[in-house]
Amino acid sequence: MQVHAHYIDGRWDSPQGREVIEVDSPTDGSLVGAVVAGDAGDVDRAVAAAVAAFPGWAATDMAERIRLVEALAAALAEHREELAQTLSSEMGAPVEFARGAQVGVAIRDLEELVAAARAHRPRRAASGSLVVAEAAGVVAAITPWNFPLHQIMLKIGAAVLAGCTVVLKPSEVAPLNAVIVARLVDAIGFPAGVINVVFGDGAGVGAPLTAHPGVDVVTFTGSRAVGAAVAKAASDSIKRVSLELGGKSAAIVLPDAPLAASVAAILGSCFANTGQTCAALTRALVPRSLVGDFLDEARSQAAAWAPGDPAGTTRMGPLTSAAQRDKVAGFVARAAGEGAEIVFGGEAPAALDGAFYEATLLAAVTPEMEVFREEVFGPVLALVPYDTVDEAVELANDSRYGLSGAVFSADDGAALAVALRLRTGSVGLNGAGLDVGAPFGGYKESGIGREAGAWGLEEFLELKTVMGAAHLA
Ligand code: NAD
Repeated sequence: MQVHAHYIDGRWDSPQGREVIEVDSPTDGSLVGAVVAGDAGDVDRAVAAAVAAFPGWAATDMAERIRLVEALAAALAEHREELAQTLSSEMGAPVEFARGAQVGVAIRDLEELVAAARAHRPRRAASGSLVVAEAAGVVAAITPWNFPLHQIMLKIGAAVLAGCTVVLKPSEVAPLNAVIVARLVDAIGFPAGVINVVFGDGAGVGAPLTAHPGVDVVTFTGSRAVGAAVAKAASDSIKRVSLELGGKSAAIVLPDAPLAASVAAILGSCFANTGQTCAALTRALVPRSLVGDFLDEARSQAAAWAPGDPAGTTRMGPLTSAAQRDKVAGFVARAAGEGAEIVFGGEAPAALDGAFYEATLLAAVTPEMEVFREEVFGPVLALVPYDTVDEAVELANDSRYGLSGAVFSADDGAALAVALRLRTGSVGLNGAGLDVGAPFGGYKESGIGREAGAWGLEEFLELKTVMGAAHLA
């Protein structure tokens, strides 16, 4: 797929710049496609189109917005295979995983947003006033490569249902799924300028988009470091900013937890998508007396996570690039240097050429170690022993991040009591995973704001108080 245009104002628009971004397969290094690298001039044209389209779109009936977003969900379902194959070839997810956890979840995102939009009541009385929820304006949406379609849909689905217009800058690492999205948006017939897509990297497109005076809201998903830069750039013109950043999420295994099922859920969370999941459970907190049993069980399940060709039946493909693989290898080497014990994994498999790395379990990890604190964004689980439940809670909360977590116990009530002590935006009980009908986002340095469902819509709404008008609600 070679695309030398941006999608602006309802058409494929000749770019200002001629530079291209090549997309290589992390599996075998082959060229899978290319997009044009945009620049500030492309951003200007896209923002101008979104600004021009805003008044008309904000005034469009909710029923019409819902009709178009439902059509987008149906189009994703119809193109599921093409999207799954594209995602797999550009970022390495196993095709079967891409069909479900990448494309299927993106469809569910839109379904839940539509349900929230149907239930949404834009006018209500408060004290003596009428309070009206209105579209917040032009949205800049900047997304990463790890669950690219899901992240795009959470943002553009919510924004357009709220009545906002959007300029999307997808990740330059995995932009090809966004090309398909733009084609589907075009075919469905969204009004020109409601959804615009500008391809390019952070410096060329992300930075000018974030600072653009025509943009009212910036919604960003990505790394903590870039999120901080985005917030700074947006603050000059007092834009509303929501950030979905990284995590170092902890799974607390309580002493009565069913061990095999707990281990399966923790390995699944940590190793799926080759560990490139912001909410992955990457620290396993295990009662000291159960560490041996936990390690035996984890060893017995490790073979299920052998890396392999993502076109086949493997559960774990390559990392998204050789650079990402080398970053992961560096984390593991430094952890071993600091005294962590490599229980399994810890190597790039010799038999595979691409950006592969073995599922890795590190034991005897302590809070002083880098791997306890920093997001690896690879298939690396750190096991930390604990002696009391209070200590487990303290270890879990001993992080600059606060995205997610998990508690495992035979007693749901006991698990909930521990879950409520975690300073994180979500907690899974006994293996429960992402729920796109409920809010998703982080405490602390994991971000600002919430995505998904009704909470996702609110990120794109402003409130207007009309005093003396409560009787008109
Ligand atoms: P990244 O921060 O490098 O890039 C994210 C996006 O920001 C890309 O589109 C990139 O081009 C753009 N960008 C880069 N510099 C920019 C700048 N100066 N101004 C504006 N935009 C800029 O992140 P990544 O490597 O693509 O993704 C991995 C990270 O994303 C991980 O840290 C992960 O935890 C995080 N993540 C978080 C969530 C969440 O919801 N909390 C979900 C997925 C990924």
